[in-house]
Amino acid sequence: MSVHHVRVTEIYARAADHPWLTLRHVIAVESAPCLAPVLIRMAGRHARIACGRRLPLDRQCRNCAPRIVVTEVRRITA
Ligand SMILES: [Zn+2]
Repeated sequence: MSVHHVRVTEIYARAADHPWLTLRHVIAVESAPCLAPVLIRMAGRHARIACGRRLPLDRQCRNCAPRIVVTEVRRITA
């Protein structure tokens, strides 16, 4: 499973319920090699690529399927 650690910054106007700007920064990524590479054919050649580059999320192996972990949320009033 690839794990993306994300820091979120929300910027609010005074007395607003919702942020007018949300910034997301990926601060670290942990990943491992694909467990089920997919065979593709292109211009008569064959190659194996990571399933995360080819298949929809629900069919990706556990090393390719991304998992988002929000490590920090900052709320700023402008
Ligand atoms: Zn994979």
